[in-house]
Amino acid sequence: MINFKKIPAIDEILVQTKVEKFISLYNREFVVDMVRKAVDELRHELRSIENELEAEVLMQIILQKMEKNILQTSRGTLQKVINGTGVVLHTNLGRAPLGSRAIEYMMEMATNYNNLEMNLEQGERGSRYWHVEDLLVRLTGAEGALVVNNNAAAVMLGLTTLARGREVIVSRGQLVEIGGAFRIPEVMKMSGADLVEVGTTNKTYVTDFAAAINENTALLFAAHTSNYKILGFSEEVPLEDLVKLGKKCDLPVMQDLGSGILYNLCEWGLKEEPTVQDCVSSGADIVTFSGDKLLGGPQAGIIVGKKPYIEAMKKSQLLRALRVDKLTIAALEGTLLEYLEGKPGENIPVIHMLSSSREQLRQKAEDLCQLLEKKLALSDKIEKIAVVELEDMVGGGAYPTYKIPGSGVEIKFKQIQLEKVAAKLRLMNPALLTRKQDDKMLISVRTLLAEDMGILTDMIIKVLNS
Ligand SMILES: *Cc1c(COP(=O)(O)O)cnc(C)c1O
Repeated sequence: MINFKKIPAIDEILVQTKVEKFISLYNREFVVDMVRKAVDELRHELRSIENELEAEVLMQIILQKMEKNILQTSRGTLQKVINGTGVVLHTNLGRAPLGSRAIEYMMEMATNYNNLEMNLEQGERGSRYWHVEDLLVRLTGAEGALVVNNNAAAVMLGLTTLARGREVIVSRGQLVEIGGAFRIPEVMKMSGADLVEVGTTNKTYVTDFAAAINENTALLFAAHTSNYKILGFSEEVPLEDLVKLGKKCDLPVMQDLGSGILYNLCEWGLKEEPTVQDCVSSGADIVTFSGDKLLGGPQAGIIVGKKPYIEAMKKSQLLRALRVDKLTIAALEGTLLEYLEGKPGENIPVIHMLSSSREQLRQKAEDLCQLLEKKLALSDKIEKIAVVELEDMVGGGAYPTYKIPGSGVEIKFKQIQLEKVAAKLRLMNPALLTRKQDDKMLISVRTLLAEDMGILTDMIIKVLNS
């Protein structure tokens, strides 16, 4: 109780030089709030302290806590993470990091006025949806294109425009849930379309679709089962067959492709995933996909397809609520231009990571291993550092069953728990995420950016010395 009484009064704390310095740097209410928070924290801690503390000591503790809280709060919550997991499109880590052209382009549009909705040729009001349409049409072979907030929005807009108040036929094998509670059946309900399920979980035939068609049917829908695979005794309706049926019955076919790859990665062992171009040339009327998955761009939902449907979506009132901003358009245009120039493997980080050769990855792992050995050689907490072969993943709901051979470094610690080191690395700024195998820490090099190796080495030294 004695300790509680010795806690300095708020007024007394506020006139301390250190507090006054912070008040001159930040909003006064914010600093006062941080002082109160520090006092609360101290009160809480004092409950478990037996020995008596002097008022001056308590003041110093409060000032320290206040400073820590101010610095923590004022740096914001979004922070850089070094991805040592080898999962290229990690949905919890912001999916695709952007390439330099996308960033430069975005910077220029962000810091200046621009022609977002201005037709400069005619000096009249223009449309923001005009900007990337030509590029998308060129790259995918579709007749028209439209970009919205994300792929969930794209699916929603497509369904509501084409099938509100009418029936949409879907295979039971494709009633997908994507992470973050995006469920095809729920999205359908929200769009106002009536879901008609056909087939079974493992087998659906085109005849199942045909049998469900009636005068109320508006759309045939296919979802790419991006985050799972039904193997074994299973049968999906090929898109071509669905298109044939759609043509015969005069019904449009919409494919939710999910990841939407524009660049064929077969050469690097990533087969199976149909490209956007494949879907378009199969005759799908509408194809939707994400901008920040395998495309390697910003968060966006891209819709490509037949002109009349795209035009109908452009007229939808819902579009206003799903629209993209100038920064997204700039980043997307910057990304698509890399595809136009044909060098996505060099200039788009995600494609670069996925098309790295085994030799390149092995070399990168050896470089990291050498760096770590050089700097950590003298530490008594390291038992072993070595280059290892490991398995990476595409992530982002693409290639669910694929493990891609990668390289990395394994570290075995001694005198210190692996979990503790991993947790400390996760709590730093930037944070480092690693993998664990038995009693070893694994760092995959595929997902490390150029500057990450030096930074993470210094982070590990810091943790081991603390
Ligand atoms: C990822 C995914 C979505 C959701 O896309 P967002 O861009 O995250 O909204 C929808 N459908 C499929 C098949 C997906 O893979």
